[in-house]
Amino acid sequence: MQERDRPLGFATRAIHHGYDPLEYHGALIPPIFTSSTYAFADTAQGQRRFTGEEPGFIYSRVGNPTVALLEARLAELEGGEAALATASGMGAITSALWSLLRAGDGVVADQTLYGCTYGYLHHGLTRLGIEVRFADLTDPANLEEALTANTRVVLFESPANPNMHLIDIAAVSAIAKRHGALVMVDNTYCTPYLQRPLALGADLVVHSATKYLGGHGDLIAGAVVGPAELIQEFRGFGVKEMTGACLSSMDAAQVLRGLKTLELRMERHCQSAQTMAELLVTHPAVAQVSYPGLPNFPQRELAQRQMALPGGMIALELRGGYEAGTRFLDRLQLFTRAVSLGDCESLAQHPASMTHAPYAPEVRAAHGISEGLVRLSIGLESPADLQHDLLQALEGL
Ligand SMILES: *Cc1c(COP(=O)(O)O)cnc(C)c1O
Repeated sequence: MQERDRPLGFATRAIHHGYDPLEYHGALIPPIFTSSTYAFADTAQGQRRFTGEEPGFIYSRVGNPTVALLEARLAELEGGEAALATASGMGAITSALWSLLRAGDGVVADQTLYGCTYGYLHHGLTRLGIEVRFADLTDPANLEEALTANTRVVLFESPANPNMHLIDIAAVSAIAKRHGALVMVDNTYCTPYLQRPLALGADLVVHSATKYLGGHGDLIAGAVVGPAELIQEFRGFGVKEMTGACLSSMDAAQVLRGLKTLELRMERHCQSAQTMAELLVTHPAVAQVSYPGLPNFPQRELAQRQMALPGGMIALELRGGYEAGTRFLDRLQLFTRAVSLGDCESLAQHPASMTHAPYAPEVRAAHGISEGLVRLSIGLESPADLQHDLLQALEGL
């Protein structure tokens, strides 16, 4: 695309950044490079590629032209120097943290995290001699207490999955910076259209591109965005030698397709979620609705400060506890009972009977997951149909 003398909008960059059809036979849509390996003109070129003197591709675990386009686009949208696309969100988190940490180092994470992230920190990193501390980072002062001289990384989600607590990215980043720790924000719930953690002082952003970035429930992918030097380390060591969690070019092409409608989809997700949240707060069977767009959301001011829009996810608390949660879920007709989020289809999950079923109620409670908590991912269906489904499922609960 031609250089412009004025900044381009989000949707324009999500559709065009880094690709010129005239360089590829005029093909409007970027080609999918399926090659696993790349030819060198001679041994001298091979040597220059391996030593890093000459940019270029060597082997698709380390870099692929289709994946590279996705990486360029994600870096652009997040406002970072570089990005690394990975086989999953967990692949991004593990490849980055295994590159950054060694025995004796410390990690501080928020107490509310996506289940597998929690598992990786709690069971995975600790067995390698890395000290993991969980703290309630909704109050940034708790970070001061949790930090030690060895803390290398501070990790959190905002909003946090599944309870929708927000964390003040600028405040936490300022404290971490003073102590020389890197801040990694999982921006899956927001996408760069709603929130750009790097501009607020964070060092790294991770994504499950499986969710809103892909947006169509047809792939598993992830990414980490940040300073070029760190991303190079995550690529050349984290993925290349530790996890092998490289993204396939086919899936990269699907994420590139998803990104083109990200702005449109997020606008509609947010608009419909606002409508559903306003409907749910008035219902007698509902004890509480956690949605950053509601006037009584406890962190409303922070939501308005760091998020462009309140997002497409809702956590609601049913008065009837566990029983009400399962009955509500079983009665849904249009919402799909499923985990994951950010798809065109509206999804509902009841953590007590689904994702957190293996844990005792006391353990669930300690992690902020009550028996009547239901998580909704508001999709792109006609809002009137979603409203109708929620109301019929809540009737008489
Ligand atoms: C889904 C998810 C992940 C993990 O991503 P995968 O693509 O499933 O590996 C990490 N963080 C959050 C917030 C998620 O929702």
